Amino acid sequence: MNATERLASPSVGFAAKLTQTTSLLQRAADEHSGHISLACSLGAEDMVLVQLINQLQLNVGIFVLDTGLLHPQTLTLLDHLKATSRAPVTVYAPSKPSVQQFVDENGPDAMRQSVALRHACCQLRKIEPLGRALSGLTAWVTGLRREQSDARADVPLIDISNPALVKISPLSHWTWGDVWHYIRQYKVAYNPLHDQFYPSIGCAPCTRAVSQGEDLRAGRWWWESESIKECGLHLPSSPSPHSTSTA
Ligand code: SF4
Repeated sequence: MNATERLASPSVGFAAKLTQTTSLLQRAADEHSGHISLACSLGAEDMVLVQLINQLQLNVGIFVLDTGLLHPQTLTLLDHLKATSRAPVTVYAPSKPSVQQFVDENGPDAMRQSVALRHACCQLRKIEPLGRALSGLTAWVTGLRREQSDARADVPLIDISNPALVKISPLSHWTWGDVWHYIRQYKVAYNPLHDQFYPSIGCAPCTRAVSQGEDLRAGRWWWESESIKECGLHLPSSPSPHSTSTA
């Protein structure tokens, strides 16, 4: 049974949620015209947002952070996205010399050695490229949902804590069943790893399948017991476009 067959199950009020999501995206695209992009991880939620942005023909860009350690399945989906998306897709990669230096100094499995080295790897491969991706934007769109983890339980639809860079999470109130219902309804392309019980997909060394009953993000950095299971993209310390070099 694939992920769509297993998971598609709209919640009560899904139609109203979809209407709210659609109007929020349209309003945000108008207000931030040309200065708004989707941070696309190529996960199920973000593929729903890609479909909405393209279907509604919104003036919203799409960016992907290619850390250099994504699964082959994710890279194949990225190729598909680049070939089919109406909205422009921009890929940001980490600095090769910086990555090489980090690997030379700490080894290819540095992220398993300590939380500090894991954070350093995420900083290098994700946060620094994110800063470049956000440069010049006044708003960004994310696929965050409250249901994903305790750390995301309060994700608002619109986060204006940084007025210079509004963060919009149009699916924050969707359930996992809503996401897959939409994917089934609109035949949205998705990462086949979802069929293999990967609900949340990041870099290959830091992602595993989950068992029934586990948290949706239990397969991320599972060897860490005390840390917050986030890479820093969605923590309050995420970089501001105005404090980050565009080089
Ligand atoms: S998720 Fe893992 S491999 Fe990817 S940047 Fe973070 S620590 Fe490095």
